[in-house]
Amino acid sequence: MTARALYLHVPFCVRKCAYCDFASFETPREDPLMDAYAAGLERLVVESLDAGILMAGGTAYVGGGTPTLLADALPDLVASVRRHSAPCELTCEANPDSLTLDMSLRLHDAAVGVQSVHDDELSVLGRIHDGRRALETLGQAVSAGLDVSADLMCAIPLQTSESWVTSLCSVVDAGVSHVSVYPLMIEEGTPFARAVDKGEYSLPDDNDEALFMEQASSFLASRGFTRYEVASYALPGHSCRHNQAYWTGVSYLGIGTAASSMFDLDEFEVLFHAFPQLERPSSEIARIRMTCTSDRRFLASHHRLADQSFDVELLTEREALAEDLMLGARMSCGPSKELVSRARDAMGFVVDDTLASLIDDGYLTTDLAPTEKGWLLGNELYGRLWDLASCS
Ligand code: SF4
Repeated sequence: MTARALYLHVPFCVRKCAYCDFASFETPREDPLMDAYAAGLERLVVESLDAGILMAGGTAYVGGGTPTLLADALPDLVASVRRHSAPCELTCEANPDSLTLDMSLRLHDAAVGVQSVHDDELSVLGRIHDGRRALETLGQAVSAGLDVSADLMCAIPLQTSESWVTSLCSVVDAGVSHVSVYPLMIEEGTPFARAVDKGEYSLPDDNDEALFMEQASSFLASRGFTRYEVASYALPGHSCRHNQAYWTGVSYLGIGTAASSMFDLDEFEVLFHAFPQLERPSSEIARIRMTCTSDRRFLASHHRLADQSFDVELLTEREALAEDLMLGARMSCGPSKELVSRARDAMGFVVDDTLASLIDDGYLTTDLAPTEKGWLLGNELYGRLWDLASCS
C-alpha cells in the first residue's frame, strides 16, 4: 500500500489575510505563473501514480492558499486528477471572492473559507470578501449541486456570542452539509500579531473561546450536525474522508510548495524509488514526513518528482504510534482498539497507564472517546499521549 490521500497545495492568494502564516503568496489574478504551476501539479500527480507512490481510488484535496484563484485552471486540474486517480472524494478549498457559479458547476465538493458573515469581523481578519458575498457564494455552490463545507472562525476581536451564532446560523441556512470551526490563532510575525502587540484589539480570553466552541457544538447539534472531530461537524454521510485519513494514520502524498507527505516503513521501497534524492534513514525509523521546500516558480518549470527538495522529519515506531494515538483522540470515536493494541505491543503497559490516567482525569471516556473537557483542553490530552513517544 502507498498513499491513499492526495493533497495538492496552491500557494497563491489575492492578498494576505492579517492573521495568516500559511504558505501562500500575493499573486495578481492574471499571473501566468498560476497556469504553469497547475500544469506542473497535474504532471506530478500522473508521475506519482505511475511510480506507485499514490494509489487510485483514495481521497483528494486541493488546498491553499486560494485554489479558486487558479480560475479555469482549477476545474481543469480537478478533471485531470479525477481522470487519472478516480478519487472517492475530491474537495477544493474556495474563497468567496473567486468561487464563481461556472466554477462551482465544474467542481465536486468545496470547502469555502467564510470565517464570519459580519463585515467588521472580516475586516479585522483582513479578508477580501464581505459577509453578503460569502453567503451568496455558499448559496450558489449549494444550488450548483456541490457538497459544501463552510469554515468559520471564533474568538475574533469584536465578535460576540450573538454575532457568532448568527454566523453559524447563516451558513447552515445557506445549505452547507459540513462546518469546520476554528479559534483565531495569533501567529507571530503577522500584521494581526503586531496589532495585538500594540494593543489595538482586546482579545477574548480562554473562557470566551471555550464558550464559543460550546455554542458551536450545541447550535450545530440542534440543526442535525454531528461533531466527528474536535473542529468538524457534518450532517449524516457528509464527514470529510480526506481529513479522517490524516487522523487515522493513512499515508498521504502532498504535492506542491510546502505540501507535506507521510509514509510508513512498509512503503519505504516505493518511496525511495520515486524520490531518489532522499537519503535512506537508519533502521529504527518507522515513518517519514517530508515537506516540499521547492518554491512555486521552481515547481512551475520542473515537473518531476526527482527534481523536488524536501525538509524531512523522521519518526521512530514509538513516535509514530504516539502521534497516531494523539490524532485519534481528536475524533469523537477516539483512537481505535486496533491502534491501542499495536501501541501496547510496541510500548508495553505504559500505554494502558496513560489511557487510564486520562480517563481518571476526565479527558477520555472509558471507550477512549474524548470528553467535552478533552476537547476543550486538547493540548493537555494530546500532550500526554505524545509523551508516550519518549517513555521508556
Ligand atoms: S485566503 Fe487563506 S491562505 Fe490566503 S491569505 Fe487568507 S487565510 Fe491565508
